[in-house]
Amino acid sequence: MLGTRPEIIKLSGIAQLLGPAARIVHTGQHYDHDLAGSFFEEYGMPAPDVVLGIGGVSRGAQIGRVVAQLDRHFADHPPDAVIVQGDTNAALAGALAANAGALPLLHVEAGLRSHDRRMPEEHNRVLVDHLADLCCAPTEVSRANLAAEGISGPRVEITGNTVVEAVRRLLPGREQRRALLDRMGLRAGRFVLGTFHRPENVDDPLCLERILRELAALPLPVVLPLHPRTAQRVRSHDLCPLLDGLRVLPPVRHADFLGLAAESAFMVSDSGGVQEEASVLKRPVLVVRASTERPEVLGTFSELVPPGPRIGEVATGWIAELEALHGRLDRTPGPYGDGSASRRSVAALQRLLRR
Ligand code: UDP
Repeated sequence: MLGTRPEIIKLSGIAQLLGPAARIVHTGQHYDHDLAGSFFEEYGMPAPDVVLGIGGVSRGAQIGRVVAQLDRHFADHPPDAVIVQGDTNAALAGALAANAGALPLLHVEAGLRSHDRRMPEEHNRVLVDHLADLCCAPTEVSRANLAAEGISGPRVEITGNTVVEAVRRLLPGREQRRALLDRMGLRAGRFVLGTFHRPENVDDPLCLERILRELAALPLPVVLPLHPRTAQRVRSHDLCPLLDGLRVLPPVRHADFLGLAAESAFMVSDSGGVQEEASVLKRPVLVVRASTERPEVLGTFSELVPPGPRIGEVATGWIAELEALHGRLDRTPGPYGDGSASRRSVAALQRLLRR
């Protein structure tokens, strides 16, 4: 079950290991070329076997419609088990439909907690973990979060995060990265990579304006692949002139994004997955959010900042000691495992099915 760009990235290794045994259901949430099609191609994943049509409706309607459609699908073609990933509406809907159909449920990337009840994702991940028969926790921190809510024993497996193998698989080599920078007229370590799409940052005109102004004032070029939601909000809030000082792009393929991230001075983002990728690529990320469900990288690879002048202040500090900062991060081990999370998750699924 998947519905968004990060779910495709993080389930690609598991889909590959399962091969024809996997039936891929896409909710249709991000079913366009930039946010879905190109990611299926990049990861060599077969096109989804089933695409549900739920784009463009409210969260409640999305969840309700996917549950109803999946319920019918599972009744006609019952799978041995259902796999969901992360904290999206697709993941919650998949979990509810599996539960309604009495199907074993595996949750990849279980046990993350921001303890911030303002985030819909926090509710999604808590609910999915409690429904799951098997929680694949990326780290000891996530295992402890699950234990604190009474989810433990054979229901939990520490697997690492599947993002590690996804990054290793797609990160372009040094030569290709150099060619990418040449094409874009960028210098290694002398530009910033930004991504924003969270509603609290882009739906509020003041927040979005503050973020764009801070980015434009940085002393390094800022490359900003714009999520369609953000592009739409920039237009509707009349903020297009603030993009003039930035290198704005449409969403880029994952390999290009990783190549840019690896060569950047640092990243500025509100994305969840980018915080993890920072720890694999050994580049720092300023996280423009009030809370994070990924505390494992706070204080090393990431720092939380509100949308406003703190962005410029922290960035200026980092730019002043960039080489030392990169050197420190190169020597800091990432917390998300050794790149075998997909393999461990599939092995755990097989054990679950034998139980
Ligand atoms: N990403 C990408 N191209 C882009 C921007 C992001 O491939 O232009 C990748 C990024 O490397 C990360 C994922 O998309 O793996 C993050 O997706 P998003 O920010 O939509 O979701 P989140 O991680 O916040 O759930």
